[in-house]
Amino acid sequence: MEYAVLGRTGLKVSRLGFGCMRLPMKSGTEVDRDKAIPLLRRAVELGVTYFDTAVGYCGGDSERVLGEAMEGLHDRVVLSTKNPHYDKRDKAGWWRNLEDSLKLLRMECIDVYNVHGLNYEGYESCFAGPDGLYQELAKARDQGLIRHICHSFHGSVESLKKMVDTGLFESVTCQYNLLDRSMEEGIAYAAEHGRGVVIMGPVGGGRLGYPSEKAAELVGQVKSTPELALRFVVSNPHVTLALSGMSDMRMLEENVATVSRAGKLSADDHARIADAIQERKQLLGLYCTGCGYCMPCPEGVDIPANFEILNLERVFGLTEHARSRYAALGGKAALCRLCGKCVEPCPQRLDIPARLAEAVAHLDERAGSVTGWGELRGASAAEYGLLNVALRYHLKNFTDRPQKVRVQFQPHGEDQVVPVRCEFRDLKAYGRRHKDLRLMVRPPLEALTLDVLLVCDGSHVLEHLHHVVATAARTEGYELGVGARRPGSLHVPSPLHPAYATGQPVRGHSFDFAVAYDDEKLYVHVDAEDDLCCPARGPLGRREKADNLRIFLDGRIPRQIGHGGYETGVMHVTVYPPGAEGGEPLVRTSNEAAVDVKLARTPVGYRVDCAVPWAVFSQVAGRPDVIGFDLALSSYDEQGNDVLRLSWTGRSGQERDPGAFGKLLLV
Ligand code: SF4
Ligand code: SF4
Repeated sequence: MEYAVLGRTGLKVSRLGFGCMRLPMKSGTEVDRDKAIPLLRRAVELGVTYFDTAVGYCGGDSERVLGEAMEGLHDRVVLSTKNPHYDKRDKAGWWRNLEDSLKLLRMECIDVYNVHGLNYEGYESCFAGPDGLYQELAKARDQGLIRHICHSFHGSVESLKKMVDTGLFESVTCQYNLLDRSMEEGIAYAAEHGRGVVIMGPVGGGRLGYPSEKAAELVGQVKSTPELALRFVVSNPHVTLALSGMSDMRMLEENVATVSRAGKLSADDHARIADAIQERKQLLGLYCTGCGYCMPCPEGVDIPANFEILNLERVFGLTEHARSRYAALGGKAALCRLCGKCVEPCPQRLDIPARLAEAVAHLDERAGSVTGWGELRGASAAEYGLLNVALRYHLKNFTDRPQKVRVQFQPHGEDQVVPVRCEFRDLKAYGRRHKDLRLMVRPPLEALTLDVLLVCDGSHVLEHLHHVVATAARTEGYELGVGARRPGSLHVPSPLHPAYATGQPVRGHSFDFAVAYDDEKLYVHVDAEDDLCCPARGPLGRREKADNLRIFLDGRIPRQIGHGGYETGVMHVTVYPPGAEGGEPLVRTSNEAAVDVKLARTPVGYRVDCAVPWAVFSQVAGRPDVIGFDLALSSYDEQGNDVLRLSWTGRSGQERDPGAFGKLLLV
């Protein structure tokens, strides 16, 4: 193992660090201790001395496991963690995080204490000045609770340089890898000014963590892409150490061998690899710098993300990995309708629509077919008690030649659709068109199903469009906490619940879900039946595991519902039942919005009634017409083990299938 000094901290650390964000897991919130603890201790035996964690890693369990694994080894290792608290009005919250971390890590003094994700703008608004949180960091250091004040960073080179210029932080942890070299100049500046430089994501957040022959072809002296990626980072003379999120023994041993290997890459080798990759990207017409000048695409295509994924396939030969990344991407290349608006702003003069067609051909599982999908756009009351549902039908040509397509729509039961058929005469290769439809349906509406017959290239294909739907009616004078079961509830589980489809056991577990709205707020009423439901055991800290109900609301434009990128327009309300009868529930919201909640115990579970102001969905002006929803119940046993984690989408762990989201139509 190689060692280096972590900038001004003076700490001698291994050049391979252990990033504890991808430890083997038993469930979404519980690390598999039988695997993780031997792995962490073996890393120490192999000479790894730097371990990095954070509040919230591994569903909040990472710090605790690291503390357990490092018991008795503190004199041999350097432990680093991160505090994500930015609210300078709530200093007690900041201290609570520090106290929790000390307790979980089983330390009296944390070696490297980072502000989580701090850029210069965040520093100025929350940490600088006499009332800023930096004062708390300094106090904690004076009290001997932390040894070195550091920060992790996401932001621009300029912002990093300004952080260095504050002179207040001893090391920085930031992203840098073969695919994303944008921080190279900032890293050099930090190192030249005596800061330790810790790199997270040296293998591109796992993107380069797969073997590929193309990697060896590129430079001829490495065996695999992960090795190339790690050596590339470590051979940068400004990098002190690279953190790798290792989840098994093989990965650990290979990484240790890579960083220990004699004849490490020289600065010349480093430059040569960078040039070889750039040349290859240019050769393939894929030299996208990620500048984002082509964005936003009116159809929601995430152009740089598609190119980054395509590069994995074309430049590094990581086909399977690229396909799975593409499958999980929100703004897929498939959404492109070849309008050409993005071409002119691109400084690299990339033929964006052609490259996106390439992405579709290589990465989209629908390549070679013509396929359609539906997008719910709203609903209104019609005559005779019917509902008018607006649905946009999208048709995409995933083939490399123009197509003539006839489409026939077939509603179910007594539902009606207008029009019932249409024709797309000249659907360009990789082109996309749409048709707006009106469906007349009879409430109550729990599911909307439409069969679609596509006729093209002499063949007939029957597709089923299926949406799980709840309708929300306008109301005046809604009172929270009044009424047992609201009328018009959608009952879950039903045969629609994905858990039934998979045969997964569902023990006495269901929801009734009803929604209403007015000009100010959305009112969500959930009646949960759960035989495992029990209130929190004792007072709740920030990271205690206690039974809870989470309501997930996605108020973005319809085509984004359920896809990644939850920064705006999306919120969670998490309700923890009170410990004692008559007590107040604990309510947490994802974006600090003021949400009123009333909670009542019922003989079989609990009932939650909450009022969410429209302002939380600020991505759209006014109120959205369609809102994606998901409900999740989590239960824990006395030991804090996760015993039930079931949601409307049937998701386990962190996976979320956008197609399985329920849709709320505001009528
Ligand atoms: S050509 Fe495609 S990617 Fe570019 S702006 Fe138009 S729809 Fe979006
Ligand atoms: S403008 Fe060009 S280089 Fe910049 S992100 Fe878009 S495609 Fe990439």
